[in-house]
Amino acid sequence: MEKSLNTNSNLIAEENVLNWNTVQEGFRKTFGSEIYSSWLKNVSLITEYNHYVILGVQTRFIRDWITSRYADKILSELKKFKLSIDRIEFKIIEEKLGTVIPTKSEDRKISDIKDGVLNYNRLNPNLSFENFVVGKSNKIAFLSAKKISSQLSRYNPLFIYGGVGLGKTHLINAIGLELKNNSSVMFISAERFMYQFIKSIKKNEMVNFKDFFRKANVFIIDDIQFIRGKEGLQEEFFHTFNSLFDKSAQIIISSDRPPNKLDRVQERIKSRLSGGLVVDIGVPDYDLKLNILKKKITEFQNSFHEYPNLNNEIIDYMAKESNLNIRELIGIFNRVVAFSKMNKKPLSINDCKIILKDVHNNNKVISIDKIQNVTSNFFSINLQEMLSQRRSRPLARPRQIAMYLAKKLTTRSLPEIGRKFANRDHTTVIHAVKTIEKLSQDNSLMKKNIEEITSIILSD
Ligand code: ADP
Ligand code: MG
Repeated sequence: MEKSLNTNSNLIAEENVLNWNTVQEGFRKTFGSEIYSSWLKNVSLITEYNHYVILGVQTRFIRDWITSRYADKILSELKKFKLSIDRIEFKIIEEKLGTVIPTKSEDRKISDIKDGVLNYNRLNPNLSFENFVVGKSNKIAFLSAKKISSQLSRYNPLFIYGGVGLGKTHLINAIGLELKNNSSVMFISAERFMYQFIKSIKKNEMVNFKDFFRKANVFIIDDIQFIRGKEGLQEEFFHTFNSLFDKSAQIIISSDRPPNKLDRVQERIKSRLSGGLVVDIGVPDYDLKLNILKKKITEFQNSFHEYPNLNNEIIDYMAKESNLNIRELIGIFNRVVAFSKMNKKPLSINDCKIILKDVHNNNKVISIDKIQNVTSNFFSINLQEMLSQRRSRPLARPRQIAMYLAKKLTTRSLPEIGRKFANRDHTTVIHAVKTIEKLSQDNSLMKKNIEEITSIILSD
């Protein structure tokens, strides 16, 4: 009896194929959007069997993190859609490897944490100064990074900030490559720093943790914005920072926003972060994009000994049309090249348009709510007040900026945007867009603010 019941339920389950988008929606609801977007959004379904699934994750770190904290919950979530599943396996689909930096210490006490950290303490040999194309938007950051690398500068810390995909990780990685032969370099993302931190607390190894991180002469930490809202982590980071600073170790930090815009970070940390040299990387202009494409073409020639089948018109088109960031530009280039190889004939502008559209569609949809939230946060004003009918300039300008960004970053119509701004008329939106367009041409602070807000919106 029992047997037949079992077979029966298997039969039903077999017909029931997982719809991964629906499952992901379920994850978002069950785990909340913060955990979802930090850890689960990029989990993919590789293979589905009747009793188990193989899920793809990008790195070993993410796999360990997810299995240690969320595996059970994920399983019960999956069971909601397919009862027969009783096991999950994770497969790493893209592990970016670089070189491991040897540390000089042989201290056995710290060997455990060392092994753990060394797995993450990797520099990518391709992200070097030689491979970094310099343009208007990144020149100052580049020169500062160079100076720090030749130890000509005593700025400490060096803080590099800018939107997603603009070259921050590339630059700070390049500094690490440059210095690793003569110093003990530590390169870690803030996320991994946290992971080590939590692991050390659990294993009662905080002393080792402290020792380990304080041994570096050059401490590079990527994406520091990750510490926002995490009190315990900030506490530890603060102490690590201070002891490194006190022994004159060079500290290099990247962030998606300037120190003073790191909300939910302790004031004393913000003040430390801005105590050295703060430089930004901006959105690339046409020339920089063109030069990056040229560099990519040369790299392609060197690896394949042939010129990619692209004419100047297409290259020009790519540089003009990709308006978000360098990572996207390179993605578009790779796709166009792959396409032209398959086609064996030069691409037309029209083919190129189709490819680009695809890339853009793959990007996440930006909501007006998000634009409003980020903008009001950026100016430290209350969202309700920003949307209210009050006309004082400290409220009206951010309101206009948010409208302008809604027009620029979403596909919403003017009346739709108006409705989202406390039922304003579409002519008000037009007026706002025009005003901000004009101001951002004449006023460099306005231009910069808009760039920063945009990059926060795109990166969150
Ligand atoms: P971020 O850390 O700011 O999000 P990355 O450093 O990861 O951005 O850069 C995204 C991609 O763009 C990487 O492949 C990087 O090598 C490339 N890239 C960024 N800036 C440049 C540049 N100036 N020259 C060449 N490649 C660049
Ligand atoms: Mg980065």
